[in-house]
Amino acid sequence: MVSMVQRQGDVIKELEAVFKDRLFTEPHILSLYSHDASSEVGVKPMAVIQPVSVDEVVKIVKLAIDYGFKIIPVGSSTSLSGNATPKLENTVIVSLERMNSIIEISDIDWYARVQPGIKDDELNLELMSYGLQWPVDPASSKTATVGGVISNGGGGMRGAKYGPASHWILGLEAVIGTGDVIRIGCRTVKCREGYNLVQTFIGSEGTLGIITEATLRLAPLPESFVGLMARFRDAESLVNAVIRVKRDKLWPMVTEFIDYMIAQVLGLEPMYYLWIGIDTYSGSEQQILSKLNNDVSLSGGEIIDKAFTWQEFSKILEPRRMLYSATLKAAFNDYGTDAFVAFEDIAVPTSKLPEAVREIQTLGQKYNVKMVIGGHIGDGNLHPTVWARRSDKDEMERIMKFFEDVGKLAIRLNGTVSAEHGIGVQKKGLLREAISSRNDGNSDYVINLMKNIKRVFDPYGIFNPGKIFD
Ligand SMILES: Cc1cc2nc3c(=O)[nH]c(=O)nc-3n(C[C@H](O)[C@H](O)[C@H](O)COP(=O)(O)OP(=O)(O)OC[C@H]3O[C@@H](n4cnc5c(N)ncnc54)[C@H](O)[C@@H]3O)c2cc1C
Repeated sequence: MVSMVQRQGDVIKELEAVFKDRLFTEPHILSLYSHDASSEVGVKPMAVIQPVSVDEVVKIVKLAIDYGFKIIPVGSSTSLSGNATPKLENTVIVSLERMNSIIEISDIDWYARVQPGIKDDELNLELMSYGLQWPVDPASSKTATVGGVISNGGGGMRGAKYGPASHWILGLEAVIGTGDVIRIGCRTVKCREGYNLVQTFIGSEGTLGIITEATLRLAPLPESFVGLMARFRDAESLVNAVIRVKRDKLWPMVTEFIDYMIAQVLGLEPMYYLWIGIDTYSGSEQQILSKLNNDVSLSGGEIIDKAFTWQEFSKILEPRRMLYSATLKAAFNDYGTDAFVAFEDIAVPTSKLPEAVREIQTLGQKYNVKMVIGGHIGDGNLHPTVWARRSDKDEMERIMKFFEDVGKLAIRLNGTVSAEHGIGVQKKGLLREAISSRNDGNSDYVINLMKNIKRVFDPYGIFNPGKIFD
């Protein structure tokens, strides 16, 4: 009988023959790919491969079918819910980092065809010279790849107006779990060709197949821009300003915030900070600014910086992009490498923001947890983030209770437990809770529908095991 170790050795030999120096089995490299940017603990995969073509991706999937190993496709592993963290040792990480070209940009049809490994910022830098943008802009845009953003259904800093990835993908090429290459979607915004498989793939977290090419919908860069940074004494005043802006029917591209604790870590005065950026046409800037000024001051805030181009605004927005690293700094200052950080990612309708923010703060006090809050408040997307010492069972239980209750709060307020980060490992329980809240006694049926979709795309259960419902 062939032992497990012998079989693994055979697999590695076969892979080595094809991928040579693009196959890695060195322990320190395997360690790097054994987790994503969340605190989820993973296991070392058996190998990491960096394919350079769709044919190579097909080869890997066919070998996985023959040998029974698992595959996790990854971009930059910046996921925050354990989405890209391996849970089984017989896993091969397929890193798309070398498939990072722009294939075509059409500045008439406003689409770009790209390989999945291109980084969000690299793409937008190139698009800038065409006067265009792909407006899906996670705070991790310097490192996050287009394939990762699509697969997590990501959103980001321009989401208040442009929404998440699902609004900005026209078509995909992917290798599914039979080894077949499928091409789905169109190059036009209107596309009604049977069931919408493109939307099924968006947010599927690498569980249905490997995206090898994407056709992205583009938007023009703003002709003119009005941006501001304001500060407030408390969260309630900041939320009121956001609501006033919505009531005024202003439609910001960016509406972001951080709390006083993050501000302190970043060396700012400990207050609540709000960024609003509105893309507009020349001539309307002063009128917009005066409305914004009114909304901020009537809510008790103070404007401390302004910008009149997207580039200038990106600079004053930089502290908001530091939310993740500042949170890790606070957690590591407290507990060093024993820190476990849990990133919540709820969204609620704007009208429910005051209640959501108030109750999150109350839950923080109830469970006596270390907590910061910030996020994409313009689309109701909040990231309450808590941390604990891994070795402190009581504190870990308290942050988990907090995590669960914040998710339940979002459900109660007609929101969602997962706005943009995906389910991964950490939100599997909350996902079931959300589905059951909307499907009176019928949630198993809905969950089975989704599991059946997974089986159709991935009949041998190869892709990203242990995630979403698995
Ligand atoms: C500092 C920081 C800030 C962040 N800010 C935001 C934010 O503002 N908005 C937001 O939405 N997220 C944010 N995130 C989370 C994360 O960056 C995004 O989800 C991002 O889209 C992940 O991209 P990635 O290339 O790192 O993907 P990975 O983490 O490598 O992968 C993400 C998922 O997609 C799958 N996958 C990756 N590539 C492919 C492919 N080619 N085919 C099929 N499946 C694939 C993986 O298996 C995994 O399940 C942030 C993370 C950090 C660390």
